[in-house]
Amino acid sequence: MTHDTALLKTTEIASRVLASSAAQNDKAGRFSTEAIESLGESGLLGLLLPVNVGGSALGPRTFAAVTATLAEADASVAMIYLMHILGAATILAARPSAAQALAPILREIGAGRHLSTLAFSEAGSRSHFWAPISRAHRNGDGVRLSARKSWVTSAGHAHSYVVSALAPEGTGPTDSTLYLLKADTPGLSVAGPWDGLGLRANASSPIALEDCHIPPDFQLTEDSAGFPAMLNVVLPLFCLGTAAVGLGLCRAAVAGTASHLKNAKFEHLGQSLGESLPTLRAQLATMQIDTDGLSARIDDLVEHLEKPRDTTMLRVLETKAAAGDVAISVTSAAMHACGGAAFSKHLSIERLFRDAHAGAVMAPTGDVLREFIAKSLLGMPLF
Ligand SMILES: Cc1cc2nc3c(=O)[nH]c(=O)nc-3n(C[C@H](O)[C@H](O)[C@H](O)COP(=O)(O)OP(=O)(O)OC[C@H]3O[C@@H](n4cnc5c(N)ncnc54)[C@H](O)[C@@H]3O)c2cc1C
Repeated sequence: MTHDTALLKTTEIASRVLASSAAQNDKAGRFSTEAIESLGESGLLGLLLPVNVGGSALGPRTFAAVTATLAEADASVAMIYLMHILGAATILAARPSAAQALAPILREIGAGRHLSTLAFSEAGSRSHFWAPISRAHRNGDGVRLSARKSWVTSAGHAHSYVVSALAPEGTGPTDSTLYLLKADTPGLSVAGPWDGLGLRANASSPIALEDCHIPPDFQLTEDSAGFPAMLNVVLPLFCLGTAAVGLGLCRAAVAGTASHLKNAKFEHLGQSLGESLPTLRAQLATMQIDTDGLSARIDDLVEHLEKPRDTTMLRVLETKAAAGDVAISVTSAAMHACGGAAFSKHLSIERLFRDAHAGAVMAPTGDVLREFIAKSLLGMPLF
């Protein structure tokens, strides 16, 4: 698969499967298994994996474009896809001693039959995902783990969960280890419903781990090496992917607003809203400018990830922070421009507005990113 064929396939799935059901799935809080099956059948679940496990060996540029295209049609599915890609990347980056045991799972992902996700956030440390409260305990060669994971995208639908916990002998708050738990691991259960303001169709329920046994082959990182994996493997792709979700939402908001301004009429004036009101035209133009600005920022981050340099981590942090703000501001402007029609849910704009608020609260949150960016500029320690 090439970049262009990946995008063609995504566009086809977005229009055939996602666009027609996004509104109903949002209303019902329903996880779209059809969407994930279509993504699997098209080879998109193995997008970043190497060819020898059935992947397409594509990079961040295609990942961002695919995710934005999905989000334009249904941001819930885009977020499920994003978390899966992160799970797959973390499994791929596992320590060499686990490679043999994990190869069948990577091949299942490459074949489009396995959905993964991340379970980092805990009730105890909230958005500070880098500091799990739970601790793994030695149990023969493996470990036992109990934990309260507070939000897990695709909970109850994923085939595996990449889970963080303090290492058995870890001494500091970031001395974590990453493990892989299959969905049928005894002791793993979905611990509550998901009824969010936005991204309502992505099943972000809590999960409980009750004394789960994890064999050594399913320990993804060395002891206490979870934190560097979070920073180096997960964070760049997560920030790029959430920014791409924001971009898709902005594009959908611009298109939805333009359509409304063209089609809604002041019959007594014989004009459409757009023809009649320069204030609404100015608002639409600002939305377009901000959307293209976010797109350029994402392109810049992709270039930094393709050719890493000193400023790459700064760009990673900046892009997610900026995307959260832009997505909220563009979808808010759409709510304003489309007025009562948006407010009373006659348009998809209010779903975009609700979905746009998730990016900024997903960790690292916009506030935390600003803390990191400013501290790094001032030469202060981040943790
Ligand atoms: C739709 C959705 C899907 C999710 N999916 C996953 C998933 O798949 N896996 C996963 O691990 N987690 C997931 N999460 C969890 C997410 O990443 C965050 O951990 C969670 O949203 C944090 O919420 P909280 O109320 O506990 O945050 P809190 O930590 O209580 O934050 C409350 C406020 O304090 C601010 N704040 C916190 N710390 C600081 C600081 N140091 N400086 C300045 N301000 C600060 C925050 O920005 C926020 O405004 C998901 C969340 C959502 C909403």
